[in-house]
Amino acid sequence: MNKRKSTIVNIGSLSIGGPYPIVLQSMTTTDTRNVKDTVAQIRLLENAGCQVVRVAVPDVAAAEAIGAIKKQINIPLVADIHFDYNLALIAMQQGTDKLRINPGNIGSRERVQMVTEMAKEKNIPIRIGVNAGSLDHRIQARYGNATAEALVESALEHVKILEADKFDQIVLSLKASSLKVMVEAYRQISSKVPYPLHLGVTEAGNRETGTLKSAIGIGALLLDGIGDTIRVSLTADPVLEIEAGKNILRVLGLLKDRIQIISCPTCGRCQINLIELAQQIENKLISKDKNLTVAIMGCAVNGPGEAREADIGIAGGKECALLFKKGKVIRKIPENRIVEELLEEIENL
Ligand code: SF4
Repeated sequence: MNKRKSTIVNIGSLSIGGPYPIVLQSMTTTDTRNVKDTVAQIRLLENAGCQVVRVAVPDVAAAEAIGAIKKQINIPLVADIHFDYNLALIAMQQGTDKLRINPGNIGSRERVQMVTEMAKEKNIPIRIGVNAGSLDHRIQARYGNATAEALVESALEHVKILEADKFDQIVLSLKASSLKVMVEAYRQISSKVPYPLHLGVTEAGNRETGTLKSAIGIGALLLDGIGDTIRVSLTADPVLEIEAGKNILRVLGLLKDRIQIISCPTCGRCQINLIELAQQIENKLISKDKNLTVAIMGCAVNGPGEAREADIGIAGGKECALLFKKGKVIRKIPENRIVEELLEEIENL
């Protein structure tokens, strides 16, 4: 897929936008003032593969905790602030790597300038986060609802405020719980501004529904090349957000950190116990970090085609399977030897 060409924004030592790979992020659920618990959760997120972490900054004590948290973590930190410019100033003094704040909510021009001046001086980017649930009442009244157009108009208003201060280290998000609104809003904004886009479906739900909604919304945009960083929002442990985000990137082919398995659903033509075989093979391969595609197919209808396209694969026959490697049939394997021989071949690749 052709990635949209956006500007590049640096979050601490990490770059997003331009040609850079999609960055995975999450947000802590701990009280930010509780440094010990917040650091412990961030470490779990780091181990899971989180690349940027956001913390809520509802008051001065939370803003002042950022310095202590930063000292104990290894990934860039984002301070999530609503309304209070003073919290943004403290968070930046404490060493936050990025701010999430909407300049239109800060108040006077002078306050905005204090934030943009310090952000410029410290090279700290700002994410404008427009959310359907907290859309500006003026704009909502004009559109009658939180439509995609309304989200885009709100985002552009905030962008103009930052651009008036010649501030361009901007990241944008336009989140909604409606997939239609969210996808449309990002599509529209993607051609109106050059800045990197942070994708997310807001209030997506629990692990199962939230993962599904996020996969559809985020996935649809990434397939069009839109998006530079993603956050899967789940009403669950944030570590699960990272797992879900990684899986979305894996199925899109944007993260190649483990073996990709292609397997058919089986049908009345299948003459081997493919469901069990596929499960056994997947369990054995899940932790292997080889960049390979393995096809596990039930019969000769679609089997040889998929097995040939993959690096290695099988196509089932009568109580046996044909083994394919790099597009060629290697040999026939009896059913009771399929798992063992396939794994052996993968090990040798
Ligand atoms: Fe059925 Fe064969 Fe297709 Fe599998 S590959 S679903 S067994 S036709």
